[in-house]
Amino acid sequence: MRAKIVAGNWKMNNNKDESKTLINELKNSLKDFSFNNTRVLVAPTFVNLSSLVKRANKSKIEVVAQNMHQAKNGAFTGEISADMLKNIGIKSVILGHSERRSYFGETDAILSEKVNTTLKNNMEAIFCFGELLEDRSSENHFKVVESQLKNGLFHLEASAWKNIVLAYEPVWAIGTGETASPQQAQEMHAFIRAIIKEKYNETLANNVSILYGGSVKPSNAEEIFSKPDVDGGLIGGAALNAQDFIAIIKAI
Ligand code: PEP
Repeated sequence: MRAKIVAGNWKMNNNKDESKTLINELKNSLKDFSFNNTRVLVAPTFVNLSSLVKRANKSKIEVVAQNMHQAKNGAFTGEISADMLKNIGIKSVILGHSERRSYFGETDAILSEKVNTTLKNNMEAIFCFGELLEDRSSENHFKVVESQLKNGLFHLEASAWKNIVLAYEPVWAIGTGETASPQQAQEMHAFIRAIIKEKYNETLANNVSILYGGSVKPSNAEEIFSKPDVDGGLIGGAALNAQDFIAIIKAI
């Protein structure tokens, strides 16, 4: 059975003290939560990863990275390697967030290398993708999503997919307050599963968790998560507030 996942992407928010307060609030609020098949992830900024890994210890909250460089090591000023992340206890990394693609020039080709490095290091890749508003307006959204998946992931062997989580994030819905309707999310998630089935097989397609991201809030989470192909969410703004994030987790 594929996992349900709620992941909070804190982006460039929360200094050390704020991060500590937020993780403590999450830990306390989730003390009696039945995780069963549900995973709860938070992605703080790099400088706070190490301390949060320690703070999350003995809780079921997983601390993950927001990004990673594709090279093993070397002259890449300002970058962070897989080995550095693993060495402080990080097991998963978000790759290809639309902000990385649009502000930092991350292409499908770079992302495919980042995926390879992640898997080579036995880490999990939370692979983000999604269409721009103009792609949807011109009815090219399926084509764009298919090409992002093919270019970023379809070179992988089937066995590698056990370490892949997908996050469909229509760019027009990220941080805008505009959410894809539950029907739009379901339609795209079903399409994603169908193309994975066509490329690989039905079991693999049914086993991969596909998260939705884009202005998920306590008020809309339950309806979005109720859709059969939506396995949880990647949450930005609402993950910065403990009560909102907890409400979203409880909606799964
Ligand atoms: C995100 O950044 O991945 C995201 C979904 O942000 P928000 O929830 O704020 O739209």
